[in-house]
Amino acid sequence: MALTGNVVVLTGGVGGAKLARGLVEVLPPERLSFIVNTGDDFWRLGLKICPDLDTLMYTLADVVNPETGWGLRGDSLITLGSLDRLYRVDPWFRLGDKDLATHLLRSHWLRQGCSLTAVTACLVERLGSGARILPMTDAEMPTLVDTVECGLLGFQQYFVKYGWQPVVRGIKHQDCESARLSDAVLSALLAADAVLIAPSNPWLSLAPILAIPGARDLLARLSAPVVAVTPIIGGAAVKGPTAKIMRELGLEVSARSIADFYQDIIGGFVDDKRNEAFARQGLRITQMDTLMNDLPDKIALARGTLEWIGSWTA
Ligand code: GDP
Repeated sequence: MALTGNVVVLTGGVGGAKLARGLVEVLPPERLSFIVNTGDDFWRLGLKICPDLDTLMYTLADVVNPETGWGLRGDSLITLGSLDRLYRVDPWFRLGDKDLATHLLRSHWLRQGCSLTAVTACLVERLGSGARILPMTDAEMPTLVDTVECGLLGFQQYFVKYGWQPVVRGIKHQDCESARLSDAVLSALLAADAVLIAPSNPWLSLAPILAIPGARDLLARLSAPVVAVTPIIGGAAVKGPTAKIMRELGLEVSARSIADFYQDIIGGFVDDKRNEAFARQGLRITQMDTLMNDLPDKIALARGTLEWIGSWTA
């Protein structure tokens, strides 16, 4: 029988949002909490931008741009064009006109003294995103990417400005020592009947969450099962720099390396059926089709994962 209790999902942006979209079709929203990476967040032109939170919010509210998997459907770039033409502001970071509404309101509420958790809850409620979407922390903890060619780069500079081309030699989480999991995140984890680690980029999207003091220990100690889904299919990433970064960090590009990364916290691993099967003592592994091209794929992976976890205790 499929698991029907509280499910908490640790996630980054586009890859994680695909599984999230499937999960909301198989579980009622009050059973679902998404703990979202905020290491990608930054300030641009006085606006607080939270790319992974926005991707989750827009996906679950069904207003996301289906072509990119991020940003708003039917958006335009008139303001960005004017900033460039009239004021020579380099338009390297795309900010859609409709999307600006989110950034303006978020920044306004943050400046009024609200926490990112509270601001996100208001945005989610007004957008109608349904499930609980929780920033991993209310502290600012920007991810810095240490590259061979350019040295330390802010995450968005690495990812967007330089198109993730510089060679990565390390990843840092600025100010992580003083960051704390928010109370809402702690409560969600303590009430979880299962924790899923979405098929997001482990080094860029999940590592920031795990870098918050106490996060890894808490996950390792939970009595609820913690299960990761592979972002590597057939020795490659579906999209983005995951495989490239793995090679640059000297790791084998395989699901095995992903399982190793989460070794101390997971009890289960959903591998893709296209990958070479492997075994790990103490780790339950299943293989399924984890490629999510359309909504039925997303639902099938969500349902398959919950049924598999449910079968452990049946
Ligand atoms: P970002 O924050 O927007 O870069 O996205 P994430 O970190 O959430 O996800 C990036 C990862 O998602 C990449 O490693 C992809 O391989 C993985 N991914 C994207 N689509 C799929 C899919 O359909 N299935 C699986 N298994 N992984 C996927």
